[in-house]
Amino acid sequence: MKGEKYLFVVSGPSGAGKDTVVSKLLHDHPDVKKTVSATTRSMREGEAEGVNYYYLTKEQFKDTLDHDGIVEYTCYCENYYGTLRSEIEGHMKAEEPVILVIEVEGAGNIKRLYPGSTTIFVLPPDKQELEHRLRSRGTESEEVIRKRLQRAEAEVALAAKYDEQVVNDEVDACAERIYGIIRHRMMQED
Ligand code: 5GP
Repeated sequence: MKGEKYLFVVSGPSGAGKDTVVSKLLHDHPDVKKTVSATTRSMREGEAEGVNYYYLTKEQFKDTLDHDGIVEYTCYCENYYGTLRSEIEGHMKAEEPVILVIEVEGAGNIKRLYPGSTTIFVLPPDKQELEHRLRSRGTESEEVIRKRLQRAEAEVALAAKYDEQVVNDEVDACAERIYGIIRHRMMQED
């Protein structure tokens, strides 16, 4: 499909700091946009409807899916997360680079659906740092943290399948590395 080169998929284990890196990138480079996904998980403190996610009930999520409004979705730690068709197709048509911050299964599905997209994996500097970041967020229970750590280990093993890998040793530098990847891809053919 025309415009696939404008799609950039960013994944990384929970706690790798990918959201901070992507926020920094969007702040410094307003030409780059981010899709807002739909989720059935509840809103965390500091989050807002339509900014971090569209918060749907399970019924609303299923209904959107049935009406072909979701291009890929996954069940992550007992909640549904999905990429809305309206979000990505709008940016592709407008020829604006857009980042999807999604987990590994969704990233694989996007790459299959849009082979011209670029997948980027954000790695934590090391496992201790990952656990430290997950805990210091202070928003999740011990059980949820343990689940997220288990899943993080499985996800890191998939980093090599991504088109690009970047280590989040320092937020600004990591954001600039991703921006470099975006600029480079935009200069290529679709
Ligand atoms: P969180 O609950 O921490 O916001 O997100 C949990 C995981 O779901 C993260 O890895 C995040 O990237 C992923 N995620 C968010 N939106 C989507 C989506 O639309 N599709 C998929 N496949 N994963 C998503």
